[in-house]
Amino acid sequence: MQTAISMTYRLPCDCGKVMLIARGAPAARAICHCHACRDLYGSIVLAATAWPAEQVERSGNDAVLEYQHPTLQMRRISCRHCGEIVHGINRLGYLIIPNARFTKHHHGVMPKELMPAMHLFYESRVFDIDDPLPKYLQGWDGERYN
Ligand SMILES: [Zn+2]
Ligand SMILES: [Zn+2]
Repeated sequence: MQTAISMTYRLPCDCGKVMLIARGAPAARAICHCHACRDLYGSIVLAATAWPAEQVERSGNDAVLEYQHPTLQMRRISCRHCGEIVHGINRLGYLIIPNARFTKHHHGVMPKELMPAMHLFYESRVFDIDDPLPKYLQGWDGERYN
């Protein structure tokens, strides 16, 4: 059994032109309910992992489309050929990889070691979530809902 630290995740986009390889363990595993993620990723909640940039290698950069959020320091990187969102970049420079990208390349299930550990910006939620995870009203250094 491999330890989480030696894991390698290969995540080609739908057409295969942009490849992402993430190594080791992410810095954070969360389900985010914030407005910015909702706008940027087009999903009511974003279940994702955040990775230090040096742990992720991206190839096929000539196929990449980069969108800078107009007011926030957030970027969305997608493939200009198939349109899939490859990853985001948050204001701290972490690469945000949606969990759906991992399940797609892991037989439809989320790798256990990457499962979400908390909810963020729960005060902005569209619906309540009944699970045992800690729920932070905003960021993880702030007040909790539960
Ligand atoms: Zn593609
Ligand atoms: Zn968010």
